[in-house]
Amino acid sequence: MSETCSGNCGSCSSGCNSDEKLKNRLSVIKNKLLVLSGKGGVGKSTVAASLALTLAKKGAKVGLLDVDFHGPSQPTLFSLQTATVEGNDNGMFPVEANGIKIFSIGLVMEDADRAIVWRGPAKIGVLKQLLEDVQWGPLDYLILDFPPGTGDEALSACQMITGNKKAVIVTTPQEVSLADCRKCVDFCKQLEVPIAGIIENMSGFVCPDCKHRHEIFSSGGGRKLAELAGTDLLAQLPLDPVFLRECDEGDIASALEGSPEIAGELDQAVSLIVAKG
Ligand code: ADP
Repeated sequence: MSETCSGNCGSCSSGCNSDEKLKNRLSVIKNKLLVLSGKGGVGKSTVAASLALTLAKKGAKVGLLDVDFHGPSQPTLFSLQTATVEGNDNGMFPVEANGIKIFSIGLVMEDADRAIVWRGPAKIGVLKQLLEDVQWGPLDYLILDFPPGTGDEALSACQMITGNKKAVIVTTPQEVSLADCRKCVDFCKQLEVPIAGIIENMSGFVCPDCKHRHEIFSSGGGRKLAELAGTDLLAQLPLDPVFLRECDEGDIASALEGSPEIAGELDQAVSLIVAKG
């Protein structure tokens, strides 16, 4: 392979070994943001998609890679369940929605309702193949919707992603989520992945009737976690039933437009992330 190869030329399939191909593929992506959470259901995928949309709205070239094997949500959030993945000898192309390039493990599953029952090494092999094969081209940001937790898959994904990478940790305010996110903080420290910040999701609920804010899951946990990690609390996103409905209906871009409080918090989060370089 020539020294100037961007990882997006046709020669990779014949000239590169796998590690070189992976390195070259990632070398044209300026920043990788790994979106992590201690457990499932805290809104990690929703936050990953929202960060991607918010960055794209600010003019960045953005890719979104969903490697959450057991719950790939990005096809649902962007109504891509029937999208077809195209490719050539050099790999697969991401699909495009709302100005973002998207690839999800869910796009190449034959049946979305079938559980993935592969053992760890098989999942890690697929992960590597995805990172090698998807033809993103040059990007300002690749947002990675990570598997929840700090197990094998997250560890391998973290190690495979080279270049400028930072983690964003998503938690809800309850202790059960915070406890697992403290492990995410430790995971990042052990792997020497800088933490761009913490996003506290489902942080209070503003009642549409009485307009009062209710702290359903207690408050202050995200801030404490940010202090522990020595990083910023990037945003506190309220629970919003209208936002949830639009996400469930497969239109996360409209969900953000219809929820100025969530959109405003994410705008602030993205400005902080961009400022950190
Ligand atoms: P995870 O990726 O952590 O498993 P998801 O992003 O799939 O979690 O979110 C779980 C559910 O919570 C989804 O139905 C999503 O629409 C909803 N959700 C996430 N964040 C919010 C929020 N701030 N307000 C309302 N619903 C939310």
